[in-house]
Amino acid sequence: MFFPSLLGNERLKRMFADMPPDKVGSAIIFAGADGTGKVTAATDLAAALLCTGADRPCGSCPSCRRMKAGTNSDFELFGEGLEKAPTIDQVREMRSRSFVRSGDAGFKVFVIANADRLNPQSQNALLKVLEEPLNTVFILTCANVMDLLQTVRSRCTVYNIEPLDQDTIVRELSRLEGYTRQQCTEAAAMAQGSLEKARDILANGQSAHEKAALQFCSALGNELAVFKAANAAGALSREDYMLFCIALCRHLSDKMKTDSNTAMLIELYDYIQNQMNTMTQNPSVSALSGALAAFCGDLYGGNICPKS
Ligand SMILES: [Zn+2]
Repeated sequence: MFFPSLLGNERLKRMFADMPPDKVGSAIIFAGADGTGKVTAATDLAAALLCTGADRPCGSCPSCRRMKAGTNSDFELFGEGLEKAPTIDQVREMRSRSFVRSGDAGFKVFVIANADRLNPQSQNALLKVLEEPLNTVFILTCANVMDLLQTVRSRCTVYNIEPLDQDTIVRELSRLEGYTRQQCTEAAAMAQGSLEKARDILANGQSAHEKAALQFCSALGNELAVFKAANAAGALSREDYMLFCIALCRHLSDKMKTDSNTAMLIELYDYIQNQMNTMTQNPSVSALSGALAAFCGDLYGGNICPKS
């Protein structure tokens, strides 16, 4: 079986290449960050399982043709879209629909996107469905597998969907019209392996928190510029300041791989992590950004980390 629409993920593709359909199991989880292709992987696998041709998915058998047209009654996708999770009613409906007689393949494939966003009550309802010997294969997708109940996890085989490498994202973005190579490369660099996120950055520009984090990082060689960038982050909303901290940590750990002054980067990284932890105590954004600016002053003044 293969994954004609899924980008990257060569390890997963090799793993499934020679797997007979009856060895796939009836409960699978595809776990990975948002926008990395989990639903694409699930849909590809569903097409392969339901395919009646030789090279699954063959693309030309009646089932494959119906999959392409979006009319395959043996396939259903629940909870699609980043913000949505299936409701408990949908989970119950899923159960009753799985009893309906299926077509060519003799079984159904249900994909449940964002399964980690189901509340415990809905997950328990889902568990009941997974425990029943129904003629249905369930493919769950989630960002963080640990957000699923242990009882649900233990019923499923978990496969990780890897973030895409930057070159793959740039190549995909280059197919879009109206953007320069430079814009595509910048969007890919900020997208953390998510094609969806890269497309979003390209279409809507950088978010305020990402802009602030990049400004801070590019100012690192200049004490005054860093001080200004830290203070500028004080204009962010509370949510954006948290996202600024997350983005900054990501940029700092990237920088550590190439920069010689790692001691200073580690001090900064730890400080930002500490700020994120203290945010639960509700300090104001201006207090946090002010403290960050003061910390940078000490850092550059050699009070915390001697200059290299
Ligand atoms: Zn087929």
